Amino acid sequence: MTTHNHERLLSWLQDAYAMEQEAETMMAAMASRIEHYPELRTRIEQHIEETRQQASQVAACIEQLGGSLPTAKSTIAKGMAAIHAAGNAMMSDEVAKGIGISYAFEHMEIATYRALVVAARRVGQDEVERVCQAILEQEQAMADWLFERQPQLIEAFLEREQADLQAKR
Ligand code: MG
Ligand code: FE
Repeated sequence: MTTHNHERLLSWLQDAYAMEQEAETMMAAMASRIEHYPELRTRIEQHIEETRQQASQVAACIEQLGGSLPTAKSTIAKGMAAIHAAGNAMMSDEVAKGIGISYAFEHMEIATYRALVVAARRVGQDEVERVCQAILEQEQAMADWLFERQPQLIEAFLEREQADLQAKR
């Protein structure tokens, strides 16, 4: 029983590591294209920095549990994120869609770390639990920021579009 829970914790940490690689690729592509929404760009860039730290913290947890980093899975996740970002860039409402996609992604991260906190607690991995709880709070803060700013960002997008200014990015 304990062995199974331990293996599950490790495999969820490996999933989380691949997810953070995907997040970094997706947000880097998004942030680099934003021109007219500086506040959004700054917040995404800040979260990219947090995301890199999260990835290295999760990697340390994996190593602590005697696991290896999921290189193939991470490479696939990065590739998928790049393809998605390229698809998003072709949309005339790129920034509006990007906010929604980011909001959804943060919630996937929230669910991932909430599960990890429970799994770490069950096997008495206090340090892993503490790390996952701290990351969870960063994901929640990012989701909250997107939720609060979405109306004014959408307003700005529609205003620019109405005025025939470049609005999508
Ligand atoms: Mg993250
Ligand atoms: Fe995040």
